[in-house]
Amino acid sequence: MTLRVGGLTRLTTIDFPGRLAAVVFCQGCPWRCGYCHNPELLDASQPGTLAWADVLGFLHQRRGLLDGVVFSGGEPLAQSALPAALQQMRDMGFATALHTGGMYPERLAAALPLLDWVGLDVKAPWAQIPAITGVAGSGAKVRASLALLLESGVAHEVRSTWHPGLYPLADLQALGQELAALGLCDWVLQPCDDPRAPGSAAAARQALAGITPGQGGWPALRVRG
Ligand code: SF4
Repeated sequence: MTLRVGGLTRLTTIDFPGRLAAVVFCQGCPWRCGYCHNPELLDASQPGTLAWADVLGFLHQRRGLLDGVVFSGGEPLAQSALPAALQQMRDMGFATALHTGGMYPERLAAALPLLDWVGLDVKAPWAQIPAITGVAGSGAKVRASLALLLESGVAHEVRSTWHPGLYPLADLQALGQELAALGLCDWVLQPCDDPRAPGSAAAARQALAGITPGQGGWPALRVRG
């Protein structure tokens, strides 16, 4: 079984902190977030648009030019071929990164020894995550994934995507306090551009711009947007 790939970004400076990297977009995701920006990648029954062998060929040519490879999606951990692909990247001398929604904690635990950096989406307070993903029990999965990530010592970033129509700002603040209590240091807040809620990104951007870490009930995390 080889990785099903739905797209490739040949060079990024923003998806893997401190590295020049390529991004491999993996086909398939079990969740259905209304604001998903990659809906063409969600159907796990699709074969993908790019052969893994072609991705490997490209990366062979980029050895010495790129530092790392990011696996994004879709949900990379949905594919059983991911660990072998990560090992291939390590064998080729690339650092490895994963963007995940956190729905597969056991698979994340198995992949962590093969990863140099993880970006984990914590979309909402645990109880509100299923309303966003459309999947019962998804909040508990994300919580378990976060615990594993924090225990692992692997470099990471937690991202929360928000606009006022998803849940109240006070709930985002409470989530931040909980994340800080769990030991998180870096929290990225992203304004959500929800196609079902036109103008949501502008409203979110304005509200998030007013946050001062450590003041007004916000946690003393390194909040970035
Ligand atoms: S988890 Fe990510 S890829 Fe999957 S539906 Fe939600 S936003 Fe899209």
